[in-house]
Amino acid sequence: MYNIVMTKDELKNKLNKITDFMFPVHSCLCCGSECDTFDGYRICSRCMAKLHKIGNNFCQKCGTHIKGNYPLCIHCKDIERHFNKARSVFVYDENFAPIILKTKLGKAKTPALALGKMLADFFKTSDVMGEVVTFVPMPLSRQKERGFNQAEEICKEFSRLTEIPMIDALEKKETATKQAKLNFDERQLNIIDTFKIKDKNLVKGKHVLLIDDVITTGATVSECAKVMMKAGAKQVDVLSVAHTALNFEE
Ligand SMILES: [Zn+2]
Ligand SMILES: [Zn+2]
Repeated sequence: MYNIVMTKDELKNKLNKITDFMFPVHSCLCCGSECDTFDGYRICSRCMAKLHKIGNNFCQKCGTHIKGNYPLCIHCKDIERHFNKARSVFVYDENFAPIILKTKLGKAKTPALALGKMLADFFKTSDVMGEVVTFVPMPLSRQKERGFNQAEEICKEFSRLTEIPMIDALEKKETATKQAKLNFDERQLNIIDTFKIKDKNLVKGKHVLLIDDVITTGATVSECAKVMMKAGAKQVDVLSVAHTALNFEE
């Protein structure tokens, strides 16, 4: 007869496996220490305390934090934005930078899952919408080099959690100079005509939600929105995890 009685050690082993499965121990994306939080964001409570959520004072167009109570930031007052509105969860500063670095440069896709969860939770209380969700693409050669596009991975998890269907709508041409090397004005010019729609039918008549990891000047997401609007999208809203702030002060 089969003996179903377990020894103490076997039982302990089994229980440990169940606990590991239910409460996985993850390292904090900021400091690397064991995470003491269970919200799925993978940021420990000490690091979370140092991050700055974008509060009530933000540009109604691009969503960047602004000092004082103004409706628009200095950039949105002057330049045309092709998206309807953009919103971000955190101010992108030196405390937030390691999180994005880990998402981009690591071999694993799992940090992107944490950012997808963050965005999905933020989305519930934000004023952006979308019938379909898509992401800012990267040139194929760069994606091959890196193994994946972090914005796409964040978008996949966001789509899974919110049940908003994900579409692969855009591609990026190979020739563009990296935006990171340019200043504000150069970025606006460098990005023009670098995105292409893959299939107009994917966005035609649709309210599209566009996802990126970080918004710096807003030039990239605006250009993506322009291409989708030209292809017949009804409206484009933007959601990002972090946004560079102009003159951010605590
Ligand atoms: Zn930490
Ligand atoms: Zn703005």
